[in-house]
Amino acid sequence: MMSAADDTRVAIALHGGAGTIERGTMSEELEATYRAFLDDAITRGFEKLRKGEPGLDVVVSIIQLMEDSPLFNAGRGAVYTWEGTHELDASIMHGENLDAGAVAGISTVKSPIALARAVMEGSSHVMLAGAGAEAFALEQGFEVMPPEYFATDRRREALDAYKANEQAGLTPEADHKFGTVGVVVLDAAGNLVAGTSTGGMTGKRWGRIGDSPVIGAGTYADNRSCSVSATGHGEYFIRHTVARDICARMQFGGATLEAAANTVVMDELVAAGGEGGIVAVDPTGEVTLIFNTAGMYRASINASGEKTIGIYSDES
Ligand code: ASP
Repeated sequence: MMSAADDTRVAIALHGGAGTIERGTMSEELEATYRAFLDDAITRGFEKLRKGEPGLDVVVSIIQLMEDSPLFNAGRGAVYTWEGTHELDASIMHGENLDAGAVAGISTVKSPIALARAVMEGSSHVMLAGAGAEAFALEQGFEVMPPEYFATDRRREALDAYKANEQAGLTPEADHKFGTVGVVVLDAAGNLVAGTSTGGMTGKRWGRIGDSPVIGAGTYADNRSCSVSATGHGEYFIRHTVARDICARMQFGGATLEAAANTVVMDELVAAGGEGGIVAVDPTGEVTLIFNTAGMYRASINASGEKTIGIYSDES
C-alpha cells in the first residue's frame, strides 16, 4: 500500500460500535455488507491522509459515510429514544491545540459530526445542546432533515423490544449491538484527530446524553499522547473518563498506547461492568482497537500500511 520511497507516516482506525455482536446472529449477506463497508471506509480514509488531507477533514468525511448509512447508530439509522424520536450526539477534537466541538440531543441535523466541527470552528464554545444547537445549525446553513430520514424498521423493533422487556419487569436488553461510529487519525502534518457520532442508547429518556459528545469520555485527542474514540455503555465511559484516561496514562505514566488502552478497557471497565471498546492512534502511527464485548465493528491501517478489518472478538 505504501511505496518504500515515501516515508509520510499516516494512520487511521475506526469503529462502528461494540456490543453483543456474535457469530451466527446476522446473515452472511449482512456480515459481508458490514465488512465491505468497513474496508471501503478505511481505505478511503487512508488514501485521503496519504494525499495530505488534514485529519479534521478526513475524520469528518469518513464519519459522514457512516452517518449516512443505516447500518450504524449515527445519523440515518440512529436508535430511538423512549418517546420514539432521535436525539443525536457527536464530538470532534484536534490534538495540536486541544480544540474541540460537541453537540448533544439534536434531532434534525443530517450530519452531527459536521455540526460538532462547526461548533469548534465557528463558535466560542465547546458543547451545544438541544434547541440551542439546532438554532446554531440553522444559522450556519446546515442541512436539516425530517424525522423520517433517521427512521429505520430495525431500530424501531429494537425500541419495541426494549419497552416490552421493561414492561415485563425484565432488564431492558434490546439492541445491545450499539452501533456508534468513531474515527481516529494521524495525519501527514503529524496531528492526531478524533471524532465520534451516535444516536445514543435505545430507549433513552429525559434528555439523556452519553459519553460520545463528552470530551474526555467518548472522544479525546492530544498530539502529546494519543487520539481515542469510544463506543459502549456511555454512563461507564463518562464515569471513567475513558478517552482522556488512556491518553493521560501515556502522557504522565509513560505507558504505551496498547498498555494504556488495555488497562482502561480490560481492567478498569470490566471491573466496573462497563461494556464497550475504543479505537486509538498514537503519534508514531501505531493503532489499537480493543473491546471487552463479543464484537466491535472495526478497521484500521497503521503507519506501516497494515490493514485490519474485524467484527468478532476471535479475529485479530
Ligand atoms: N456510547 C454510546 C452512548 O452511550 C453508545 C454506543 O457507543 O453504542 O450513548
